[in-house]
Amino acid sequence: MHVWTHHCWRFPLPPRHRFPIEKYGLLADRVAAGGHEVREADAADWAELAAVHDCGLLSRIREGCLTVREEKGLGLPWSPELVERGRRSVGGTIAAARHALEHDVAMNLGGGTHHAGHDFARGYCLFNDVAVALAGLRRDGAAARALIVDCDVHQGDGTAQIYAEDPRTFTLSLHGARNYPFSRVPSDLDVDIASGTGDARYLRALREALDFALDRARPEFAFYLAGADPWEGDRLGRLALSKAGLRARDELVLDRLLEAGAPVCVVLAGGYADDVRDTVDIHAGTAAVVAERTDALTPGQGVS
Ligand SMILES: [Zn+2]
Repeated sequence: MHVWTHHCWRFPLPPRHRFPIEKYGLLADRVAAGGHEVREADAADWAELAAVHDCGLLSRIREGCLTVREEKGLGLPWSPELVERGRRSVGGTIAAARHALEHDVAMNLGGGTHHAGHDFARGYCLFNDVAVALAGLRRDGAAARALIVDCDVHQGDGTAQIYAEDPRTFTLSLHGARNYPFSRVPSDLDVDIASGTGDARYLRALREALDFALDRARPEFAFYLAGADPWEGDRLGRLALSKAGLRARDELVLDRLLEAGAPVCVVLAGGYADDVRDTVDIHAGTAAVVAERTDALTPGQGVS
C-alpha cells in the first residue's frame, strides 16, 4: 500500500488549540511501522486550486489578507506555514486519487477538508482537497461520474456547495444531526444521525444510504472521508460509535464502492479525542482496512 503524508509541514498554533496537529505524524509513523511506504506529498499548485476555488479567496489566503471574520470562521491563525501545509494536504489527495485510478484504492494520511467551499474557508479547512483532486482527474479525462461518501461526524457543507449544480457528482454526507455546521448547504443525500447513536443503527443507516447513492451516482470514481470523530469519546462529535464499529464502517464503505467498480481515494477528515492516540488508532484502523483491500488485489486485475 502507498500512502501520502504532509506531517512534516507544521504551522504555529496557540497553546491548547483543539486542532490535533500531532495526529498526522503519529499516524504516519504507525503506518510506516506496519511496513507500508509513506510518501511525502507535493504542494498543489495555485492553478490546480483555482479549478475549484474563487480567485479572490485564493489571493487573500496567499497574501495573508483574510478578513477578521474569515479567519475566525477558519479557526486557525493565518501563517505562511499554514498555507504551505494546506497546499501539501491537497497534494496528498491529488497523488492518492491518481494512484487509486490505477490500483483501485489509495489513501492520503490527511485531507478531507470538507468545510472549504468555492468561496469560503472555514472549520479548519483551507482548501477542499477532494474537489481539487476530482477536478484534476476530470482534466485528465477520468471520473466523469463521481461519488463522495463523507462519514465525518460534521456535515460536508463546502463539498455540497461546490457540487450543488453538478449532476455528475453525487455528494453523500452522514453526520451528527446536532453537530457543526449549524447553517448547512444541502448535499445530494444528507443523513442526520441522532446524538448518541451507536454501531448497529449507524451501520444500518449507512448501508441504506450507500444503496441509494450508488444507484443514483453509478460512479466511475469515489472519495471516502473516513472521519474519526463519530467515535464515542470524541470531544466534538455527538455519536457513540466504538472503534470496532468504525472499522466495520470502513469495511462496508470500501467493499461497496469497490464492488460497484469505483476506485476509491480515502482521506482522513476530523478526529478530536481527548487523547490523540485514540484518534490515531481509529485512522490506523482505516489504513489497515485499505491495506487489506490493496494487498488482496493484483495490480491491473482489480475488481474495477
Ligand atoms: Zn469532523
